[in-house]
Amino acid sequence: MECREAQRCVQAFLKDELDRRTAEKFVEHVQDCDECMEELTIEYLLLEGISRLENADDIDVRSELEEKLDRVRHRKKMYSRLKTGLFLLVCIIACIYILGGI
Ligand SMILES: [Zn+2]
Repeated sequence: MECREAQRCVQAFLKDELDRRTAEKFVEHVQDCDECMEELTIEYLLLEGISRLENADDIDVRSELEEKLDRVRHRKKMYSRLKTGLFLLVCIIACIYILGGI
């Protein structure tokens, strides 16, 4: 994903409106791109920060944003594990079938 595209995705990402694939690409990009990470941080601060300021809560935007990014990374890991699991299952069923078990 390029910076221009990533920056277009910022708002949608923060509102959880990106589809899984786009969200993953987006997270991969901002991890390595300081400029887009800064853009994301600013947008997040604007979106979340203002309402919190009114409530006078502590704002730890950076770590909250990290959590949000982590959730996407974690989900990606889960999906690839699931895919591997399914593949193994299909292999086992195929083996049983080929060996004449069923
Ligand atoms: Zn970028």
